[in-house]
Amino acid sequence: MGDLSLIKCIAFDADDTLWVNETYFLETEQAYCELFKDIIPEKEMSEKLFATEMRNLSIYGFGVKSFTLSMIETALNLNHPSVTKERISKALKLGQDLLKQPVEVFPEVNQILVQLKNKYRLIVATKGDLHHQERKLKDTGMEAFFHHIEIMSDKKEKNYLNLLNHLDIKPQQFLMIGNSLKSDIEPVINIGAQAIHIPFHHTWEFEKASQQPLNQKNYFQVEKITDIMTIIPI
Ligand SMILES: [Mg+2]
Repeated sequence: MGDLSLIKCIAFDADDTLWVNETYFLETEQAYCELFKDIIPEKEMSEKLFATEMRNLSIYGFGVKSFTLSMIETALNLNHPSVTKERISKALKLGQDLLKQPVEVFPEVNQILVQLKNKYRLIVATKGDLHHQERKLKDTGMEAFFHHIEIMSDKKEKNYLNLLNHLDIKPQQFLMIGNSLKSDIEPVINIGAQAIHIPFHHTWEFEKASQQPLNQKNYFQVEKITDIMTIIPI
C-alpha cells in the first residue's frame, strides 16, 4: 500500500467519478438502437456503433461529439433505404440532448473538495471534449476548486508522465482518483504514483476492454467518493 502522506497533488477523473456519465451514454445508445430496430436488431446495432467508435477514436478522440458523429456514420453505413434524413436528424438530436444533459454530481463532492483544497493542489484529469467538460465544471460551480483542468487525449502511462512533468511533481506525490481500472488506476500505479479506485456500476465497453488483474496492494479501493476522506490525510 502506498504512502499518502507524500501526496501534494490530487487528480480527479471527472466522468463517473465526480458526476454521473455512463448512465446517460447508455440511455442514449438504447434510444439510438431503438430508432433503427425495424432495420437491424438492437444488439447488432450497438455492436456496429461500438466498432465505429473504436475505428474513429484516433481521429475524433473521446467525448459526446465524437460519439454523435459515430452514431451518424453507423446509421449511414447501414446503407438502407429506410435510413432517412429524418432518422439521421433524430440520431443527431440524441447526441445534442446528451450534450445538454444537466450534470448530476455525486453527493457531497463539493464538501470534499472544500476540505481538500487547502492542503492539496487539486486538478481534474479527464478525457472527453474540452468544451463539454469545462462547461460541466462551470455549471456545477466546481471549477473554483481546481488548480487546472487537464483534458487528456488518452490515459496511458506516457500521458500521465507528461502530466507529472508539466506539474513538476514526482510520481509518489501524485494521487489519481477514478472509476476506471484501465484508465485511472493501472497506468498510474505503473509509473509509481498512487491511486484510489471508486468503481461505478456502469462501465463503458472500452474501459473494460483490456482490464488486467492488478495487484490490489498497490492501490486503494473505496465504495463511494466520500470514503476517500477516511484515507487521505487532512
Ligand atoms: Mg471516469
